[in-house]
Amino acid sequence: MTSPVANQPRRRGTCPGVLAPMRVGDGFLLRVRVPAGVLHADHARRFAELGDRYGNGLIDLSQRGNLQLRGIADDALEPVTDALRAMGHVSADAASEAVRNVLCSPTAGLDPSALMDVRGVARTLDARLAEDTALHGLPPKFGWLVCGGGIGHLADSGTDVRFDAVDAERFRVSLGGTLAKAAPLGLCRAEDVADVASALGRAFLDLRASLPEPPRRMAGLVAAIGTAPFVTRLSAQISPPPPSGGGLGWGQVAHLMEVFGSAEPPHPNLLPRGEKGFRVGEAPAFLTTAFPFGRLTAATLAALASSCVEFRITPWRALILVAPSSDAESIARAHGAILSHADRRLKLTACSGAGGCDVGTTDTHATALAIADRAGPLLDHVRMVHVSGCAKGCAHPAIADVTLTARDGVYDVALSAKPGDATPHTGLSPADAVARVADLLTEESTGA
Ligand code: SF4
Repeated sequence: MTSPVANQPRRRGTCPGVLAPMRVGDGFLLRVRVPAGVLHADHARRFAELGDRYGNGLIDLSQRGNLQLRGIADDALEPVTDALRAMGHVSADAASEAVRNVLCSPTAGLDPSALMDVRGVARTLDARLAEDTALHGLPPKFGWLVCGGGIGHLADSGTDVRFDAVDAERFRVSLGGTLAKAAPLGLCRAEDVADVASALGRAFLDLRASLPEPPRRMAGLVAAIGTAPFVTRLSAQISPPPPSGGGLGWGQVAHLMEVFGSAEPPHPNLLPRGEKGFRVGEAPAFLTTAFPFGRLTAATLAALASSCVEFRITPWRALILVAPSSDAESIARAHGAILSHADRRLKLTACSGAGGCDVGTTDTHATALAIADRAGPLLDHVRMVHVSGCAKGCAHPAIADVTLTARDGVYDVALSAKPGDATPHTGLSPADAVARVADLLTEESTGA
C-alpha cells in the first residue's frame, strides 16, 4: 500500500523531512534532523540498515548537519517512517519537524578549548521549536545556530539566529549571517536561550508581516528595519552589548573572530594535517572523516559505526567519529573517506546530477572526480571546482574558480564563473570537458 505521505511530495527548493519526503530523481529523499548532531553508533547502524533495505543505499550529509536517506520507494515510506519513529527520530507532525533547523558545534563536549558544551542548549532549543506551535509559521529554511566556540566553531556558518558562547554561561545573540556579519542584539544566559528564541521567532513573524513584501530570512528583515524593534521586544531577556571591544563577552567575541579567521568546508581545524586524530586532554579521541560531495553508502556508515561509539554530524559534509577504535582509520580509508586536509577531493562540489535529480543529464560526481584525477596538482591553487547538473546551481549558486554547467548531456566550462554564465568553452562531452579544465588550469599556471 502506498503511504499517504507519498501523495504529498515536497517541491524542489523546499526543505524535506521524514514527514515531508521529497521526490527527486532516484526516489524519495528523507532528511532526518538529529538533535545537536549527536548520533549514537547503534542508531547509525539502524539508519544504514534502513537505507540499504528500503532505499538505494546512498546516504547524504547535508550542509545543515542532517542525514538524508535516498532512493526510498513509495511503498517503503511507511515502514521507514515507522522505524525512524521507533528510534525517536520523527516529530509529532510535519510542521513541528520543519522548524527544527538547529546547528550545534559538532565538537561540543569533546573539545576542552570550547567555551561551553552546548549540546544541552541545542537539544532544548530543538524541543522548544517543535513544541511552540506559534513558531510553525516560520519559513522552511529559517535556521538557528548554537556555537560553543573551540576548534569546531560555527563562525562561518550563516543562519538566521545565532547564539555564540562568550563564556561558560552566556551567549551573544545576533541576527542573520555568519559570526562576523550577523547583527548583534546583546547577551543572554544559557538557560534563557529557548525563551529568547521563541520571542525572536514571534518577533520575526510579526515584524515581517508589516512589510509589503515580507522577507523570508532574518537578514532581509534586519536590512529592512534594523535591530531596534527586536531589542525593544527582548529587553527583559537580553542584556545590552558592552562597549565595542571593551566589555566582558564582547571583547571575547572580537577575539574569537580574530582567531577563527575563515573556514572552508570541511572545517580545517578538524581534518588532521598529518596526525591520525585528536586526543585533547582527557576528552575522548575523535577522528574526522569527510566524503566526496557529502555522500556515503549505507555499507560505509555501518562499517564506521562498528569502529566508534558515537558520530557527530557536521555541516561540512564530514562525520566525526567519537572514541574511534584503533582500526577506525583503516576502515574509513578502505571505504574511500577523506582523511587528509590535502585530499584534492575536498575541492570538488557537485549536485546530484543525473540519477539523483530529474533535471540532471550528466553524472556530475563522476565528472568532478575525473577532474581531480586528471588535473592533480593543478588543483592545489584552486579553491573550488563546481560541476553543476544545470544552470540552477543547487550545490553552489555563486562563483567558483572552475564551473562546469551541464545541459543535454554536455558541459559548458568556465573559470571564475557561476553556473550558466557565458563562456567560449561550450557543448563539451564529459571527457572533453575534463580535458579542457586541465588545459585551462595549465594555461593559468604557466601564464600562457
Ligand atoms: S543544479 Fe543539479 S540538483 Fe539542482 S536542479 Fe540542476 S541538476 Fe538538479
